[in-house]
Amino acid sequence: MNQTEIEKIARAYGLKNAIAYEGNASQGAIIAGLFAAGLEKSDLPKNMKLISQILKEINSKDIEEQKDEFEKYKKFIGHRQERDGLPELPEVDKKKGVITRFSPSPSGAMHIGHALTSSISYLFVKEYGGKMYLRIEDTNPENIFEPAYKLLEQDAAWLFENNFETVIQSERMELYYKYVDKFLKKDAVYVCTCQSEKFKELIDKMQTCPCRSLSSKENMSRWKKMLDPVSKKGYDEGEAVLRFKSDIKNKNPALRDFPLARINLSEHPLQKHKYKVWPLMNLAVTVDDIEMSVTHVIRAKEHRDNATRQKMMYVALGVEKKYPWTSYLGRINLKDMELSATQITKGVNEGKYSGWDDPALPTLAALRKKGYKPQAFHKFAERIGLSENDKTMDKKEFFQLLDSFNRD
Ligand SMILES: [Zn+2]
Repeated sequence: MNQTEIEKIARAYGLKNAIAYEGNASQGAIIAGLFAAGLEKSDLPKNMKLISQILKEINSKDIEEQKDEFEKYKKFIGHRQERDGLPELPEVDKKKGVITRFSPSPSGAMHIGHALTSSISYLFVKEYGGKMYLRIEDTNPENIFEPAYKLLEQDAAWLFENNFETVIQSERMELYYKYVDKFLKKDAVYVCTCQSEKFKELIDKMQTCPCRSLSSKENMSRWKKMLDPVSKKGYDEGEAVLRFKSDIKNKNPALRDFPLARINLSEHPLQKHKYKVWPLMNLAVTVDDIEMSVTHVIRAKEHRDNATRQKMMYVALGVEKKYPWTSYLGRINLKDMELSATQITKGVNEGKYSGWDDPALPTLAALRKKGYKPQAFHKFAERIGLSENDKTMDKKEFFQLLDSFNRD
């Protein structure tokens, strides 16, 4: 494909998409069109500038101009099967389909930000078959809002049309401990008792702390001390952390010997004081992704470092399962809307809102009550697609789009 062809095809698909979506084309639609027309994935980066230029141009026109222009370009829309919205997902096993998860922490009910990102995952499960998990990540005993467990399940039932399975991480603690044993046996982790500032100082200089060279026997006994009650001479909160042995010379300091588990004595709303050692996100996520045979993950782009950490852990364990295919999403900034679970909870508790379904809130519960259908969110998500670009929308723009999808 030469430059002129690429330009014409990009215009054709961009205009078609703009007309379908109230004058606003998405970059994903243009890229999907180019792929359908045979553009190689490897040729995409060098054409991104051209694509965004065309997109900008199209979106600056009003819909009548777009329609006129489309007449000139529609002949460049290919006859190959073209996909509207979401792109073809790679690495799908036809028998198993797509196994994926939406993993909120129980700090509040779902809001529209959650709904848009999780709908993308759900749509792939719907298309290819497989399984959708609602995985409630509650291994930090602090910062849990107990009613959220129920609220999240209700929201998921509505949004994922009852096609999902709930997993609560704090009910799987023995499993995480079992994996720590595996890591210990492979000498892939160590228990570090250094003061955190001291540790940071060393790691910033690409130097190891003394704990890293402990024998595996010593590590096992330290791990036992982490698990033992403080009253029986076990470590106290803040005295020890389990660390992963990564590459101490990794260019990114955040990827050097990162922590996997820590002691937290706060009471957990469900488990009370049953556990003392809690897995951190990277440990729990890795174990669960392996155990649930997750095949595809669509996550926010700020999780890129975590994906790298988790990949390292797959390798260290020597699991046969491949690390899930991963795609990153840009941030959707919704202006003039309160999307912080903490703030909403505070408002509900203080009586500022009548509840999670208060019509002033951008929660799913409130929008459900107003008569929105889950399919409106699915269409919205399709429209956003697998884009890594950040997007900013104000309330008016958001509801204009949502309303139009809800009418369809
Ligand atoms: Zn140490």
